[in-house]
Amino acid sequence: MRPSDLSTLPDGVPEALEAEGIEEFYPPQADAVEKGVADGASVVASVPTASGKTLIAELAMLSAVQRGGKALYIVPLRALASEKKTEFERWEEFGIDVGVSTGNYQSDGEWLASRDIIVATSEKVDSLVRNGAPWVNDLTCVVADEVHLVDDSGRGPTLEVTLAKLRRINRDLQVVALSATVGNADEVADWLDAELVESDWRPIDLKMGVHYGNAINFDDGSQREVPVGKGQKQTAALVADALDEEIDGQRGSSLVFVNSRRNAEGAAKRLADVTADRLDPDERAALEELAQDIRDVSDTDTSDDLADCVRKGAAFHHAGLASEHRSLVEDAFRDRLVKCICATPTLAAGVNTPARRVVVRDWKRYDGEFGGMQPLDTLEVHQMMGRAGRPGLDPYGEAVLLARDRDTMDELFERYVWAEPEDVRSKLAAEPALRTHVLATVASGFATTREGLLEFLDRTLYASQTGDDARLAEVTDRVLEYLVVNDFLEREDGTLTATGIGHTVSRLYLDPMSAAEIVDGLREGIDSGGADAVTANRRSRPAEDGEVADDAAEIPEDAADAGFVTGSDLVADGDTDDTDGDADGADGSASADSDDPTITPLGLYHLVARTPDMYQLYLKSGDRETYEEQFYAREDEFLGHAPSEFEDVAWEDWLAALKTARLLEDWASELDEDVITERYGVGPGDIRGKVDTAEWLLGAAEQLANELDLDVVLDVREAKKRVEYGVGEELLDLAGVRGVGRKRARRLFEAGIETRAELREADKSVVLGALRGREKTAENVLQAVGRQDPSMDGVEKDATASAAAT
Ligand code: ADP
Repeated sequence: MRPSDLSTLPDGVPEALEAEGIEEFYPPQADAVEKGVADGASVVASVPTASGKTLIAELAMLSAVQRGGKALYIVPLRALASEKKTEFERWEEFGIDVGVSTGNYQSDGEWLASRDIIVATSEKVDSLVRNGAPWVNDLTCVVADEVHLVDDSGRGPTLEVTLAKLRRINRDLQVVALSATVGNADEVADWLDAELVESDWRPIDLKMGVHYGNAINFDDGSQREVPVGKGQKQTAALVADALDEEIDGQRGSSLVFVNSRRNAEGAAKRLADVTADRLDPDERAALEELAQDIRDVSDTDTSDDLADCVRKGAAFHHAGLASEHRSLVEDAFRDRLVKCICATPTLAAGVNTPARRVVVRDWKRYDGEFGGMQPLDTLEVHQMMGRAGRPGLDPYGEAVLLARDRDTMDELFERYVWAEPEDVRSKLAAEPALRTHVLATVASGFATTREGLLEFLDRTLYASQTGDDARLAEVTDRVLEYLVVNDFLEREDGTLTATGIGHTVSRLYLDPMSAAEIVDGLREGIDSGGADAVTANRRSRPAEDGEVADDAAEIPEDAADAGFVTGSDLVADGDTDDTDGDADGADGSASADSDDPTITPLGLYHLVARTPDMYQLYLKSGDRETYEEQFYAREDEFLGHAPSEFEDVAWEDWLAALKTARLLEDWASELDEDVITERYGVGPGDIRGKVDTAEWLLGAAEQLANELDLDVVLDVREAKKRVEYGVGEELLDLAGVRGVGRKRARRLFEAGIETRAELREADKSVVLGALRGREKTAENVLQAVGRQDPSMDGVEKDATASAAAT
């Protein structure tokens, strides 16, 4: 069967597919078409990596649009959203409009309504449903990519509940769920009332094996000699061996999976020496050019490190890279210019980067929940291994695990080579998941009684999988109790309604427990500070509906994306100096309330760092003493009741939150990024992740304080702005100017320009000096503060200012 056999696609699409090289459907694709995927049937496709799942989704979406409908493609990671959008944009020439939902909620509501295909993460879709985005009602086809992630306790429940809601909104909704090969795809299909397409078929043969001693031992019983030289690492020997083997004039590239960003960078640096020895002059020249392109993307250490590797033919890849970096690396790898990529597991789930040889170097990673190093799931390792083999280029793919002793080799064969992938199990019936989803379900009107709620939950995978209504009912009752006691829900004559605060919490996308912790902490801070507790607040105008909704869309997906990479893996490098400040920045109110002795930024940072929505820094050895000391030194500043030192777990948590809060405080005191990375043992992306999460949570705290008339709104706002801009109080006004940022604000301040008003009137030569002679920047900055004539033509740099700036 071929694309032109389908009559459901928009005109021109079948020809375009065939021009792309899709002449025949792969067997799982043909199976999906036979089961009606192009005619509106729901389908679960559980097939190996790289065997053409995306095309199954595209056939469904394009046919749905052709029938006058609208499609949504749900991705698991924000990093994938823009990649998928770019991929689907090739259909624009056939009249299909594509949009990605990342911006704020209101604009999504307006312009996404006109798109035919929308790409978004499950958290974003959940948020849009909670905020009542009107176009959600028009969806006729929904694709859930990597649906096996419903098994993930952090993010799975959101996907599960979101799919249940979308199916409730449109009972005829076509659902296409794409899954890695899992043990129980039939249960997923039952849940979604979908046809099942299940297959082990691959476009190219895959040999799996373990390298031990001087050879790879493959699953088919064959061996391949790959001797490891003295002082050489196994990975280096394997990468060299693949490159040294020419098949049909093609040398073999390698993809090396490691367990952290840091390891990806370290391994790439070492392997660059292996690839560097094996480049011809043309390749060297092309790689130099590519390295320059990489440096041009941004002026950061990461950019330099990546360029240094790339000029030698290797690269690292993780979700903490800028997206331009990622695509440059991916394209060059596909073009066979870059010979080796060292990647975190995100790449396995993401883009299409096949290599002749995949080396799974790390099969354990640090697990925050269970502690210590834990082995990866079979399913995940299979996904990495599935990246082996470039169709049309290699005769087969090879996926290799590493063992240093025979026992480990046997274990790896048992665990990964021979093993079937795990079943996916719903993680919904857990209190943290249900707490947030029960509130949102009631607040957005999907249920108004306990029975209605249980009936709604009955449409989830959990219910269909376990058939155990009792457990779900039991957890639901506990959660309802919690939500009522904390005033998020009201229960009267069996009817459930969300309170004003409950609505706010749901729209803000907060875990209700975070909201409760924040509210208690703020109240306690007011009481103990003797400030006029719970007085009329000072907000100048009531919050309008749209304001809440607007903020709701600012959830940093860092928290949500923290699944199998650290949250900060998803945030671009923290080169904050040049990021645009928010033009509506500080409004001069910053210091108005700061004479209240008890509410300090540290106290607020600690408060939000204690909530379940913040991933805290871990305490390393020696940290306990350090932070205990700091705790006693600043005891007055903490909001809420500290546990006793004898409550071991709670006390550790409190100190870990303090470490996180201290990082935020250092950031908001203008400490240099490298000092912070050194002091806390984190990367720049981690700072960014913590800062984004704190900003979101403090924004939420501000709204809660406002709504509850707590007299702390201004303190919270100031703490939020300081962390947002990473500056001291006196720079808040300046740092909010578009194009200024923390370092430039400090330099302007030191040159005697302390406020926006002063900047508007300042001597141009002083401004130019403080901005290190960058004319364009100076002009933009002056324009941003409304200077009539911002031109720098003929302006001399002021000598004293530039001296102060250096
Ligand atoms: P998956 O989503 O299953 O990991 P992809 O959808 O990324 O796999 O497909 C892998 C590659 O196979 C893509 O480059 C895609 O263009 C190509 N491909 C998909 N279907 C076909 C086909 N029927 N014929 C040739 N190439 C195909």
